[in-house]
Amino acid sequence: MAEQHDEHTHEHHEPAVPAKVIGEEPDLTKGTARPITVVGNPVLHRECKVVTEFDADLAALIDDMFVSMYAAEGVGLAANQIGVDAKVFVYDCPDDQNVRHIGHIINPVLEELPAGRRRTLDDGNEGCLSVPTAYAELPRPDFAVVTGQDKDGNSIRVEGTGFFARCLQHETDHLNGYLYIDRLSKRARKDALRQMAEGTPRYATVPNEA
Ligand SMILES: [Zn+2]
Repeated sequence: MAEQHDEHTHEHHEPAVPAKVIGEEPDLTKGTARPITVVGNPVLHRECKVVTEFDADLAALIDDMFVSMYAAEGVGLAANQIGVDAKVFVYDCPDDQNVRHIGHIINPVLEELPAGRRRTLDDGNEGCLSVPTAYAELPRPDFAVVTGQDKDGNSIRVEGTGFFARCLQHETDHLNGYLYIDRLSKRARKDALRQMAEGTPRYATVPNEA
């Protein structure tokens, strides 16, 4: 997912000093930045494969994903965004309490919202590294829980509020073959694609086959 975007000034938010950090900063010397796939590439439009091997290749993929996400100034990245058909995403994203969350999750499943919890929609802006330079308003629940595994195969559960809740939903969608623009009205989707056509990404992308 692209970093937070101010709909009024059209400027990126200055990253605030986090109140707290949950998770560990990755060792960026281990990975290599790879170009980002964009809307239209088939790998983004089908469900990714479930990961069954928790091995060194998986750890290396996660290293590359972190480096690729930071190179593109994103706050979340799914494996199919670097062309890999596997259910993995990484994140480094603030929540609504200004807590910085860093981590990865394998085979994520979005939990149904707990009964009794009021479904509060956050109608913030959303952007995606695979729809470069475009943003659109998209209401999403402001609380999300994702369960899955870590790179060693241990069960994990990741909970998020605010912008981080949006990120968890956005990245899980990617691995199920959906982009955020698939959740927009026909008109808003068209507008996002127009923004993309008019902009130039600040990072390397994979050209789509004609
Ligand atoms: Zn995205």
